[in-house]
Amino acid sequence: MVQVNNTEDKSEAVRQDGYTITVDLDKCISAGPCSIVAPLTFYLRDSDGKALILDPDGDSLEKVKEAARSCPILAIFIKDKNGKQIFP
Ligand code: SF4
Repeated sequence: MVQVNNTEDKSEAVRQDGYTITVDLDKCISAGPCSIVAPLTFYLRDSDGKALILDPDGDSLEKVKEAARSCPILAIFIKDKNGKQIFP
């Protein structure tokens, strides 16, 4: 079972391919496209509509990147397995 780390200000999880996905919950404005582009990876929580990670391996890395690009305020960050930020 994959561990998703949810705190006040972020939702973060490491994919099996080593990439780390982080949603900055302070920045997230609940716009939603991430959960449409990568619906098996992101969902919007009921309380305030902010995006949390459901399953970091739910969608392909390409889909996760597309979801990050779709975020209007770039609240989704992706790092490779060496910790290097590849998006944004
Ligand atoms: S697209 Fe960005 S602002 Fe919209 S819910 Fe996802 S993370 Fe939040």
